[in-house]
Amino acid sequence: NDSIPAVASSVEARTPPYTLLLKRLREVRRLLPNRPLTLAEKILFSHLDNPEESLLEGTNNGADIRARATLKLKPDRVAMQDASAQMALLQFMSCGLPTTAVPASIHCDHMIVGEKGADTDLPNSITGNKEVYDFLESAAKKYGIEFWPPGAGIIHQAVLENYAAPGLMMLGTDSHTPNAGGLGCIAIGVGGADAVDALVDAPWELKAPKVRGVRLEGKLSGWASPKDVIMSLAGRLTVRGGTGYIIEYTGPGVESLSCTGMATICNMGAEIGATTSIFPFTPSAHIPYLRSTHRGSIAEQAAAIAASPGAHNLLVADSGAEYDDEVVINLSELEPHINGPFTPDLSTPLSHFKKVAKANAWPETFGAGLIGSCTNSSYADMTRCESLVRQASEAGLKPKADFFITPGSEQIRATVDRDGTMKTFEDAGGMVLANACGPCIGQWSRTDGVEKGEDNAIFTSYNRNFPGRNDGNRKTMNFLASPELVTAMSYSGRTDFNPLTDSIPLPDGQEFRFDPPHGTDLPGKGFAAGNPEFQPTPPVADSSVEIAVDPQSDRLALLEPFDPFPQGELTGMKVLVRVKGQCTTDTISAAGPWLKYKGHLPNISENTLIGAVSADTNAVNSVADVDGSTYTIPELASKWKADGQPWVVIAEHNYGEGSAREHAALQPRYLGGRIIVAKSFARIHETNLKKQGVVPLTFANEADYDKLAGCDEVSTQGLYDVLSNGGNGTVSLVVKKHGSGESFDVPVKFNLSKDQCGFILAGSALNLLSQRGR
Ligand code: SF4
Repeated sequence: NDSIPAVASSVEARTPPYTLLLKRLREVRRLLPNRPLTLAEKILFSHLDNPEESLLEGTNNGADIRARATLKLKPDRVAMQDASAQMALLQFMSCGLPTTAVPASIHCDHMIVGEKGADTDLPNSITGNKEVYDFLESAAKKYGIEFWPPGAGIIHQAVLENYAAPGLMMLGTDSHTPNAGGLGCIAIGVGGADAVDALVDAPWELKAPKVRGVRLEGKLSGWASPKDVIMSLAGRLTVRGGTGYIIEYTGPGVESLSCTGMATICNMGAEIGATTSIFPFTPSAHIPYLRSTHRGSIAEQAAAIAASPGAHNLLVADSGAEYDDEVVINLSELEPHINGPFTPDLSTPLSHFKKVAKANAWPETFGAGLIGSCTNSSYADMTRCESLVRQASEAGLKPKADFFITPGSEQIRATVDRDGTMKTFEDAGGMVLANACGPCIGQWSRTDGVEKGEDNAIFTSYNRNFPGRNDGNRKTMNFLASPELVTAMSYSGRTDFNPLTDSIPLPDGQEFRFDPPHGTDLPGKGFAAGNPEFQPTPPVADSSVEIAVDPQSDRLALLEPFDPFPQGELTGMKVLVRVKGQCTTDTISAAGPWLKYKGHLPNISENTLIGAVSADTNAVNSVADVDGSTYTIPELASKWKADGQPWVVIAEHNYGEGSAREHAALQPRYLGGRIIVAKSFARIHETNLKKQGVVPLTFANEADYDKLAGCDEVSTQGLYDVLSNGGNGTVSLVVKKHGSGESFDVPVKFNLSKDQCGFILAGSALNLLSQRGR
């Protein structure tokens, strides 16, 4: 039946354990009487391994939970994308278990190049990555993990269509996992080592987040889209504004949004550093979406829970729930926004963009408009863009910029293909890329002649725009916008074109002006299943399957355990680099061509910090050894590793922002990095560092950042004692300046749970799990 997409596991197996969750919620109510709960708290607390321990210990008997309590959580499910799944599985394999403790899925999406179109790019990528796909598929078969082959779609779209459900809690080895919050889940992006906690049934730790309410009022109309909600919020809150928070959407405006629109908003909550984002169960949006994705029974159960008396209602916030902070957005007044370049929080309302672009001397034209990806390839997105393309085609126009479409899943591709939307795009000259990440993650072979190092602009409906992210060219300015805006602007090819007010000249001297876009949230004929080869495999564990890793492989390497922490202080470390400015996980572990080495730690480590600017030299990827000879950062790190010289990195704010990429923690550890001292850290990365045995420390006085430089010698004072108990506090670094020999102390702050101290002392979380015999 072409209208029923295949999913390997039954709907029952994908239904959240509502009976258990409601039982736990009753227990939480008993422990925290008279305390109204936010939705985020309800779902998190009903997934606690031991609610009493997590909620009452060290929290003033439950009065002071947020930002204080350490929640030990038992997620319902894990999803992994192919790039991060390799390391997660290599780590899981070393635990020696026959199957995963919770349902899990692997999605082959990150390693597929966008170049000539899906028909050519997909087979080429499958051939080029065969060894890795074979590894992932065999591991999936052995451990009973659902395997979504290359071509099946992007992790977050597949999760939304198949696994997300109101009240679910899941972990995903990708920073945009919060996309599933659009369907009422707590979905959190983590590194592979954290995913392994859930896969082996160890409680997963999270410092209880604060909760920021975002109250939506009014109703979107015209050109304004769900993307503009989060784009404007990013401008208000900045890339650090969500750190330590869950963003919970409330208010009457919620009811005017579609489920996929909510997912777009939650997806980009990652851009403001939020732990995750969530919408309440919204019958008008969620019931039709669950039904159209063949999960009507989940819709019924969720509706029944949402209709139950307040104390038992798991799926919406209690009335009177308190938020640590509240922001109001009036959807009726929201205008489209354009964010960028180079950071997703540089947000400009469309009506100001012309002026701002001119003032900043941004390019007047742009070469490519790219729509789709995990962020914006819903049926509503595609049909709204189609309405614009039809208008332009009828006027005889073709896009001036290259126009690319990336469907988020085979289900959406097959559906818009069946319904004629894809043909409209292709007839207009659009190129349909594979159902995969492609240009969003550096897997883009540009054919328009733009050279590396050349200033140029592109417009995308993606979520992230760090330098070098799309085409490996750090000079490419990626302006983020709604797919509708990207589509309309592609017809002008100019960055100063405002489709709400400007027109495009036609050959006959007339002027063409776009009418506002319109579309359909869900396909009237239901979703199409698409290519049977792109369906997932059944999740049945088969212990007889051999997972072969060729010792000669340059793509996969079994992991060697890291050394434990010494029996005392860390002494004689040297500063490898003092990083200046933004340092994202892309900076620390670049993607693009390096993605192919995700399963081979020694090889991928050759990209360590290649995007970092040294504060000493102001140059990218250039540092000096003690004798003054210059090296690339990974060259010097490798040299010091060979010499047995441990090292530290000094950094500014929000170190490790961006993705859940655990390689950004693994690689420095592998090369001999022991400590990162920063002005502040991004949450996921800070956790990843601790799991790999690297100690993250923050400056007690930010000005001390300026006192350090490359090759300075650093030793810890008091850290070893701290590691026996953890907690929050301050220790010292003793710094001896390279050259002058001058010595001084730098106070630094630590924030370590007892478990995290255990990871660091054992050398890594995996070492500790292995020691415990799991
Ligand atoms: Fe893929 Fe880009 Fe989405 Fe990440 S953000 S999952 S790279 S499409």
